[in-house]
Amino acid sequence: MTALLLEMVDELRKDDDAVAAVGVGAAGTVEWPTGRIRWAPNNEYRDWNVRAELERATGLPAVVDNDANVAGLAEARLGDVRYDHMILVTVGTGVGSGIVLDGRIYRGPHGLGAEIGHMNVNPDGPQCGCGNFGCLEALASGTALTRMGRSAAAGDPAGMIATLAAESGAEVTGQIVTTAAMAGDRTAASLFARLGRSLGIGIASMNAIFELEAVVIGGGLVDAGELLLAPTRRAAREFAYAPSARPIPPIVPATFGGDAGKIGAALLALEDAGEHQGHRPEPTP
Ligand SMILES: [Zn+2]
Repeated sequence: MTALLLEMVDELRKDDDAVAAVGVGAAGTVEWPTGRIRWAPNNEYRDWNVRAELERATGLPAVVDNDANVAGLAEARLGDVRYDHMILVTVGTGVGSGIVLDGRIYRGPHGLGAEIGHMNVNPDGPQCGCGNFGCLEALASGTALTRMGRSAAAGDPAGMIATLAAESGAEVTGQIVTTAAMAGDRTAASLFARLGRSLGIGIASMNAIFELEAVVIGGGLVDAGELLLAPTRRAAREFAYAPSARPIPPIVPATFGGDAGKIGAALLALEDAGEHQGHRPEPTP
């Protein structure tokens, strides 16, 4: 896997000999600042010291951070509006998040914080991939939408969700529920309403803690637009702490979509290279 990364770096350096640093946004639990992937869902990477390997092989300073963290940095610094206190919530297969406070990524002491997807919003809710019950990710992700869509299709085999799935010759997916909702199917729209409600409840809690300037929503499900955002805003208002005295942050779609991680990783690499200027901490072996 490192070979593939190095190939990409070489390719970029061929085109531009001013490449100054390498930035990587990786899915999973990434230790900071060592840049070691401790654990990653959906693949086999365990204890992979990506930063050290990249620096050794390229001779360039490198940073490796969680992909949602760097995406959050890109949205906060370079998005349509600049924010110093914001959270990016990515709603895709899972729920990721990047928290930017005082203009900097908040990571916790080892880089392992900012996991909004595993904040509990309903202990009586469905089981999450992490093993707990009722995490935000279990209720407000593409996986949750798929689960709810399958259950809706089983209960209404003549409905649009079941019909679209039958036409596609496959099982119900989140994408099929999204297509049905966008075509005006009320059942599918109600699933987005449930999903958005859970998301809004989570956002209300985050705002109670941090007093945010904005919450930016990214990930594949934001393509559903107001079907997702309207119920999210409603619940964020409904569950807000002291709404007469504290502002409720705008909840807006992401500026950069799928490119936010790349842009943020590059930005972080340049900043980090500038900050340390040769006085970089030794990576842990
Ligand atoms: Zn969880």
